[in-house]
Amino acid sequence: MGHYGNEIADLLAKRGTKKGLPEGEALVLEAPRKEDEGIKDAHDIPAPYSLLTLTIREGVEKWWTDRWHAEEKGGKEIYRQTKYFFQRPDKEKSRTIMNHSKHEVGTMIQFITGHCYMKRHQALVDREEAPDKIKCRWCKQYEETPFHTIWNCDALYQSSVEFFGEQEGDPNEKGFSISWGALKLKKFTQLPRIASMLTPDLDEVT
Ligand SMILES: [Zn+2]
Repeated sequence: MGHYGNEIADLLAKRGTKKGLPEGEALVLEAPRKEDEGIKDAHDIPAPYSLLTLTIREGVEKWWTDRWHAEEKGGKEIYRQTKYFFQRPDKEKSRTIMNHSKHEVGTMIQFITGHCYMKRHQALVDREEAPDKIKCRWCKQYEETPFHTIWNCDALYQSSVEFFGEQEGDPNEKGFSISWGALKLKKFTQLPRIASMLTPDLDEVT
């Protein structure tokens, strides 16, 4: 089994060296063909392993970006909450999150994706749509979501400005995202009022 995989990797490397990889052309994984065996010309030098990893990485990034913008091509809206934080895939910013502890990364990802214990998401999980059940526990005006705590919660306004500055823009505009950084976000999620929103309500958990 291992040998077979290695053979494919070798052949792909050889083809990579012989043909190069024109821009936009995907490297197709396929079984070795008979005519590929015994290549002995001057090009018969295995491409560096980095060519394969680069090609795979580029493919994954393309797939990631395409999915991110799928709705612009008529797909249904996805990652709505996350897009308030990332208007496009952003490796640098992702890395600043991943540099934290497992628990902190988990909390930040819950916050960014909206998949957390805040009321709006909890209502979706519980299939409980009563408007008063999803209102923010602090301002009681808007749906309780992570985005709300930064964007338009009167009760949390001071903390929001302290950690993220004044927010600008129009959330309904394409390409909108809030202004934030991972370190500040981590500290924001640790504020008692925010932390309590990210913790399950033990009274209601039976
Ligand atoms: Zn609020």
